[in-house]
Amino acid sequence: MKNYYQPEIETMPLDQIQALQSERLVKQVKFVYENVKFYRDKMDEKGVKPEDIKGIEDLHKLPFVTKNDLRDEYPYGLLAVPLEDCVRIQSTSGTTGRRVVAFYTQEDIDIWEECCARAIVAAGGTKEDVCHVCYGYGLFTGGPGLNGGSHKVGCLTLPMSSGNTERQLQFMTDLGSTILCCTPSYAANLGEAVDERGLKDKIKLKAGIFGAEPWTEGMRRNIEESLGIKAYDIYGLTEISGPGVSFECEEQAGMHIQEDHFIPEIINPDTGEVLPEGEVGELVFTCITKKAFPLLRYRTRDLCRLTRQKCSCGRTHVRMMKPKGRSDDMMIVKGVNVWPSQIETVLLNQGFQANYQIIVDRIGNHDTIEVQVELTPEMVEDTSRTNSWREKQIVAGLKSMLGITVKVKVVEPKSIVRSEGKAVRVIDKRNLYQ
Ligand code: ADP
Ligand code: ZN
Repeated sequence: MKNYYQPEIETMPLDQIQALQSERLVKQVKFVYENVKFYRDKMDEKGVKPEDIKGIEDLHKLPFVTKNDLRDEYPYGLLAVPLEDCVRIQSTSGTTGRRVVAFYTQEDIDIWEECCARAIVAAGGTKEDVCHVCYGYGLFTGGPGLNGGSHKVGCLTLPMSSGNTERQLQFMTDLGSTILCCTPSYAANLGEAVDERGLKDKIKLKAGIFGAEPWTEGMRRNIEESLGIKAYDIYGLTEISGPGVSFECEEQAGMHIQEDHFIPEIINPDTGEVLPEGEVGELVFTCITKKAFPLLRYRTRDLCRLTRQKCSCGRTHVRMMKPKGRSDDMMIVKGVNVWPSQIETVLLNQGFQANYQIIVDRIGNHDTIEVQVELTPEMVEDTSRTNSWREKQIVAGLKSMLGITVKVKVVEPKSIVRSEGKAVRVIDKRNLYQ
């Protein structure tokens, strides 16, 4: 069995990583220019020839690719190999609009699964583990990606897919699942179910690999506690391959980006200017090993920052801090930028769980924002605090976090719909009037 912790790559000194990236980038740009009309036209338009790209220092000369470009070129416009060389498609979840389709050769699938295998190994996975995958299977990349990674590591793989919580719990206890892979919102949901049924002593989980949506540190603590595990973040997007573009190591302090396959940049989303390390901006990826659907300078719309500070795990690959959310998740309410993750932080700090919904509306010319959050069963029992006291506490917490007054309503436990995949936190009714 191949070892998927690859120190020769994952702990490579920076100058060597950069040399490898430069060599791969030069080849990739030439390949893409020769095989994809879309890139040829875009580069010609900018007056950039493949020979102008001599290494990563020239990356900024290349044009960006956006999600709209992918939608315009749907389905085959960005394909760089003959269709007969492709073995798979996957598609985005469509969280923010029309779905995008990505193509894979067998080699692309191998690389993707290898990235997921590295993530599983970083979370302590070995061939002795039972890896319970309840990300959705099918077009969504979560299930197939972690499934493939789990096979490569040699874990016993349970291809559960999402939903059917009773069956999840039954297999988890009967088969002794040790690693759980799903969205953090479904992990929280499972944690709640384990708690309600008093199953904590019957499960053998030790680690969880959770991603595909933003989640806060507060949510991490709740999940770790309810399931008795260490929870690792994993990041990825269909356009770039799927989960495993970056993942957390035991430090749980940012996700190492697989720099032998992807070159990250952080740009100012308004001007496109490349920002220095440490600044928050939009994450951009260039794929240097993919063949079927090799995106160059793809704008993810995810906002985060990168750090090259030494990580005690020994990996040298750059780390991306937890994305704050996508630029399109940001709501402008009463003229103020509001992120669902800020609201989540306030709620979890006050002892609530991540069972909440944000409703934005417009009455006349005025925006309104209401947060509904479930009481926990303990809060229902604790009669020393009234609901209106709790609501006032949240209003004050949100006012100091966001600077605006938010209407808050506490609701009964279990009254907000649970998510089996990516949670939908925001209902923005203002769009109805546009
Ligand atoms: P869609 O864009 O339709 O949701 P994907 O399923 O490919 O399609 O989702 C990729 C997106 O999910 C990323 O661009 C990012 O916004 C989000 N995402 C994935 N992993 C994480 C993570 N660990 N933390 C925060 N956001 C994440
Ligand atoms: Zn590390």
